[in-house]
Amino acid sequence: MCKLAAEFPSRVVPALGLHPWYLQNCSKDWRKNLQELLEQNPKALIGECGLDRLKDVPPNLQKEIFAEHIYLAKEYKRPMLVHAVKAQNWLEGFWTSLKEVRFVLHSFSGSVELLERALSFGAYISFCPQTRARKNFKELAQAVPLQKLLLESDGPYQGNPADISALAKDVAECKNMELKELAAEVYKNSREFIDVR
Ligand SMILES: [Zn+2]
Repeated sequence: MCKLAAEFPSRVVPALGLHPWYLQNCSKDWRKNLQELLEQNPKALIGECGLDRLKDVPPNLQKEIFAEHIYLAKEYKRPMLVHAVKAQNWLEGFWTSLKEVRFVLHSFSGSVELLERALSFGAYISFCPQTRARKNFKELAQAVPLQKLLLESDGPYQGNPADISALAKDVAECKNMELKELAAEVYKNSREFIDVR
């Protein structure tokens, strides 16, 4: 990913971190390695990192490594991509430290209640093509303030870049606004989000 970013600096921004699905075999030097990579890639974001209760990865290990990522995001002043699945209760222990970094709950898959809680700590909220299949999609789309909304493919897991235009169209419809206006706002938010301070 860093190679691609070096080759296409205006199109690719890398994100570096340990995904909660793959923690058990991580090197014991992971923190030092990640710090080195962050130093070599001053525009890189941190992530995906986070919490996933559907995966058989020890909760304490997930929480410990997530906390380290938040710490690094603070230290290096990098935005953070957070993966959170069925983790509403676990997140409770992290909101106050998350509040100090710029973060997004990516491929949001929770309740409106979680969405509002996350927003109150400054979260950006990102929808992916699969979000449209959720029962509460319309409520979620209406509950996100325009200036906190991001859209993603989450490819190759949950869609591909070509699906984003249909997603944007549906979100615009739920919000009762013009697609063009929504697209411009999401683009602006995306630029702001990845802009390393
Ligand atoms: Zn994810």
